[in-house]
Amino acid sequence: MYKFAVFGNPIKHSLSPNIHTQFAQQTGLEISYDKILVPIDDFSSSAQAFINQGANGFNITVPFKLVAFKFASELTLNAQIAGAVNTIKIEEDKIIGENTDGIGLINDLTHNLSIELKDKVILILGAGGATRGILLPLLEQQPNRVMIANRTPSKAIKLAKDFAKFGKTCGFSLDKIKHDPVDIIINATSASLDGKMPNIASGVANNAVCYDLMYGKQTPFINWATTNYGSMISDGSGMLVEQAAVAFEFWTGAKPNTKQVLSSLRR
Ligand code: NDP
Repeated sequence: MYKFAVFGNPIKHSLSPNIHTQFAQQTGLEISYDKILVPIDDFSSSAQAFINQGANGFNITVPFKLVAFKFASELTLNAQIAGAVNTIKIEEDKIIGENTDGIGLINDLTHNLSIELKDKVILILGAGGATRGILLPLLEQQPNRVMIANRTPSKAIKLAKDFAKFGKTCGFSLDKIKHDPVDIIINATSASLDGKMPNIASGVANNAVCYDLMYGKQTPFINWATTNYGSMISDGSGMLVEQAAVAFEFWTGAKPNTKQVLSSLRR
């Protein structure tokens, strides 16, 4: 029996236990998968306690991906470049940190939603752990450029600089977003968790693909994108299932069928 969990704060909204239980049923593996609400300053002791209970691995969600990166004793190349960890695998005394967010987003955009990323102008809102995780996989698709806008501009500027060797990037504050439309807007802020939408120029959404990493409810960003004529609008449920599938395979070696699980979530 594999022992897994997801760590976050808040965590009530997480669909990960449901998704991983479906993967286990598909692949004939026995698992337990808990939701663990971690106090904001207590990630390391909660994670260590779970490991001491015999955990095989766990997922990490907002706001702990950067502390999980520091907590891991080893990092995959993907996690090193992202500087953020959303999946940990325990292997004897090794705590291996991986990041499956980026590949999850790319799989959803390109396979499930049939969106071409090459030569596109992409605007990312937010510069936290999720943005770090998606930047390299996005840049590998050779977009025209990736712009990062954040409430705290210094973080966006730093990220743009850190990833400039992988493609054309720039960073600035949310209020510097122009009215000119872009091809794709990705909301990677955690504002939707609080029922908020960053206050940004509305013209930027005109005819753009608008993708909210948040999932499971009609978010303010989805409403904003609808009002401002986004061409294709999606929440992050496809990314959630795809990143979970990569984590499940990382832990167990078994590859689940994501389409089946995604359609069960959308029912
Ligand atoms: P972090 O806590 O690391 O970063 C949060 C980011 O959101 C920061 O850039 C922060 O800005 C910004 N932010 C928070 N509140 C506001 C606000 N009211 N207005 C403007 N900006 C705001 O979180 P993560 O990067 O880990 O996660 C971001 C979101 O992505 C979450 O909603 C998470 O659930 C979702 N997610 C979904 C996944 C999926 O599979 N679908 C996978 C990964 C993440 P500042 O720097 O100024 O504080």
